[in-house]
Amino acid sequence: MNKDTLVEVAGLKTYFFTDEGVVKSVDGVSFAIKKGKTLCVVGESGCGKSITARSILRLIDPPGKIVEGSIKMRKTDGTELDITALSPKSPEIRNVRGAEISMIFQEPMSSLSPVHTIGEQVQETIRLHLKLSKEDAKERTVAVLKEVGIPKAEERYDSYPFQLSGGMRQRVMIAMALSCKSRLLIADEPTTALDVTTQANILDLIRDVQKEYDMAVMFITHDLGVVAEIADDAMVMYLGKVVERGPVDAVFHDPKHPYLVSLLKSIPKLSADRIERLDSIRGMVPHPFNRPKGCPFHPRCDRVMPGRCDTETPPRVILGPEREVTCFLYEEGK
Ligand code: SF4
Repeated sequence: MNKDTLVEVAGLKTYFFTDEGVVKSVDGVSFAIKKGKTLCVVGESGCGKSITARSILRLIDPPGKIVEGSIKMRKTDGTELDITALSPKSPEIRNVRGAEISMIFQEPMSSLSPVHTIGEQVQETIRLHLKLSKEDAKERTVAVLKEVGIPKAEERYDSYPFQLSGGMRQRVMIAMALSCKSRLLIADEPTTALDVTTQANILDLIRDVQKEYDMAVMFITHDLGVVAEIADDAMVMYLGKVVERGPVDAVFHDPKHPYLVSLLKSIPKLSADRIERLDSIRGMVPHPFNRPKGCPFHPRCDRVMPGRCDTETPPRVILGPEREVTCFLYEEGK
């Protein structure tokens, strides 16, 4: 593992074994999250981005299972931990959750207890991971609530989640991640349910705490605007596979994969001097049980090569340092 790498995922496959058949939610995904940097994972609903994130924390419930691949993490003491070798219920993985890696979701209510105050919940996380006395934990709780911009933190300590707005609840979740000094924050569409102003505030907060704590962020979104704003690196997924990956500037300014090219063409440009019709990607994301043969994007691709893309699996082509695309168009010699 590279010394700048915090988490390295190689050939990860997470499948769901249902009565109707096997859903290959994550099908051979490889990437790295660098220390203190932001990796944005982008794609349409059902592309496997959330399952990839949950696999890192071993939060896959049956009938789901990691069937292949490895997830390695560099711990605070510098040693490497093979997360895939741990049992999902082991004390080691419980220690990773919260202490090393925290996760926030689109709807904080799904993670917060409705019957405990926010202060109690943040304090509980602190006591569990930092082994502080009750008084010290309370002091730290109020300090982190202030740090994430919760007004009148001492009073808010006794509020229940339902008494807070969606944006404030998301701040509480970020406070939990900060409270135990996690080194990686996995944020799964944390701003999707918020209005635009609150969304901008939460993005600013994530950026600020990342800088302050040198925290790495894995940010999952379907919003390319958010990616452009916060990412150092970007990874585009389609039907369980990584179709393109690289530093965000390269991915945005020189997109290679036809799916990403089409996605970028579908964004309105403020600089356009005349009204233009936006492009859309034809067709729909296929049902997971009807996964197309060959390249999963071929039924929607404008550059499809019949006889090739619909029968063979496209190769993973390395275009440069940390830059890759999965498409026949970029095979060597093309
Ligand atoms: Fe299109 Fe073929 Fe490339 Fe898939 S492999 S994106 S179908 S050109």
